[in-house]
Amino acid sequence: MFESLQDRLGSILSGLTGRGALSEADVSAALREVRRALLEADVALEVVRSFTDKVREKAVGAEVLKSIKPGQMVVKIVHDELIEMLGAEGVSIDLRAAAPVVIMMVGLQGSGKTTTTGKIAKRLTDREKKKVLMASLDTRRPAAQEQLRQLGVQTGVDTLPIIAGQSPTDIAARAVQAAKLGGHDVVILDTAGRTHIDEPLMQEMAEIKRKSNPHEILLVADSLTGQDAVNLARNFDERVGITGLVLTRMDGDGRGGAALSMRAVTGKPIKLIGTGEKMTEMEEFHPRRIADRILGMGDIVSLVEKAAENIDAEKAAAMAKKMQSGKFDLNDLAEQLKQMKSLGGMGGIMGLMPGMAGMKDKLAASGMNDKMFDRQLAIIGSMTKAERANPDMLKHSRKKRIAAGSGTDAAEINKLLKMHRQMADMMKMMGGKGKGGMMKQMMG
Ligand code: GDP
Repeated sequence: MFESLQDRLGSILSGLTGRGALSEADVSAALREVRRALLEADVALEVVRSFTDKVREKAVGAEVLKSIKPGQMVVKIVHDELIEMLGAEGVSIDLRAAAPVVIMMVGLQGSGKTTTTGKIAKRLTDREKKKVLMASLDTRRPAAQEQLRQLGVQTGVDTLPIIAGQSPTDIAARAVQAAKLGGHDVVILDTAGRTHIDEPLMQEMAEIKRKSNPHEILLVADSLTGQDAVNLARNFDERVGITGLVLTRMDGDGRGGAALSMRAVTGKPIKLIGTGEKMTEMEEFHPRRIADRILGMGDIVSLVEKAAENIDAEKAAAMAKKMQSGKFDLNDLAEQLKQMKSLGGMGGIMGLMPGMAGMKDKLAASGMNDKMFDRQLAIIGSMTKAERANPDMLKHSRKKRIAAGSGTDAAEINKLLKMHRQMADMMKMMGGKGKGGMMKQMMG
C-alpha cells in the first residue's frame, strides 16, 4: 500500500513544532513528497508541476496552527488546493436546448463509452423522465452496435435500428431525425473509439459533431489512465471541443490522478463517475472524495479544520485583550499584516467587520494598500526586537539602516510608522468603549 503523505511529511517537518510560519525550505522539502504522492496517484507530470507551484505560493509563510503538526498543515493546504483544482461538484448534464438534445460520447476504445451511454440514458429516463434514444455510430465493430441494442433492451431505452453499411455521420443524422419523429427529448450518440488517438478518429469526431450539432460532448476516460491522460484530454478538447468529462472505473484501485490531470488541462467539469459495470453504477462527482483518494487520507483534513476553528477563537480573544490594554506594537502590526494578507487584504477584512467600511478609505489615505503588505513586512523584519517593541526609538540613523535592510526608503518607513500610530490610536479608542471593548464584541 501507499505510505501516507502525512507520515512522510511528518519526518521532514519534525523540526518545526508548535506555532510558527512555514519557511521556504520547509515547504520545498514537503513539496518533494507531495510531488511523489501525486505521481504515485498517476497525476500527469506537467499537472504535478503547476500544482506544486500553486501550493508553494500558498504554503510559504502560512501559519502552523498550535494544535497540529506542520506536516498536517501542509497536507491541509495541499488538500484544499486539490479540491479547488478539481472544480465544482454537481455540474450535471445540460439539457437546456431544443429537443432533441444531442449528447455525443467520445473516447478511446474500452474506456467504457458504451456502458456509460447506457447508464446516462437510464438515469435520464428514470430520474428526469426523459424519452431517450441511443444510437451506436461504431461501424467498425459490428458487435458494438449489437452491444448497445442489448443495453437498450436491458434498460428499456429506445435504440436506433441498425442499418448495415451506413457511415457514422449518416447514422448520426438518421438518429437526430428519428428522435425528432419519435418525440424523444434526448439522443445519445455513442461514437467509435480507437485504441489510441489518431488523425482519422479526430476527423471522424469533428465530422459527426458538424452533422449532429451536439449540445454536450462528453469525453469518457478510464480513471486508471496515467501519463496519457493529458494528451488524451487535450487532443479531444482541442480537436472536437468537449463540454465535460466522465471518469469510469472509479470502483477500481486507481488513485484518481487522471481526474486531476484531465480537469487541469481542459478546465472542463467532471460531470459523472462510473463505479461499476452495472447500469446503476454511476455517481455524481465529489471533488473532496477524489482529493482524499489522491492523497490517500481523510482524517487529517478534518483534524486541521477543527484546529483552525479553535485557533481563530484563540487569536480573536488575544487580539481583543491587546486592544483593550491599548498596547499595539510593531510586532502586533506585523501579525496583523500577515493575517490581512491571508484573508484577502484590506478590502476582505474591512468587508467582514460591521461599521468598518469608512476605515478602509482612511487607511488607504494613509498609504495602506494590499500591494504594500510585503514591503511593510520587510521593513518590520529589518528592525531589531527592541525597535519593534518601542517604535519611538526609531530616529534617523536607525531608519537608514532599516531602509537599506528592507530595500525601501525613509519615506516609506515613516508612512508605516504613521499608519501604526493611527491604528494604535484607533484600537485604544475601540478597546476602551463599552463592556469588554467594541473589538472584542465584534470578534468574539
Ligand atoms: P467502450 O469500448 O468505450 O464502449 O467500452 P465499454 O463500454 O464496452 O466498456 C469496456 C468494459 O469496461 C466493459 O467490460 C464494461 O463493463 C467495463 N466498464 C465500463 N465502465 C465501468 C466502470 O465504471 N467500472 C467497471 N468496473 N467497469 C466498467
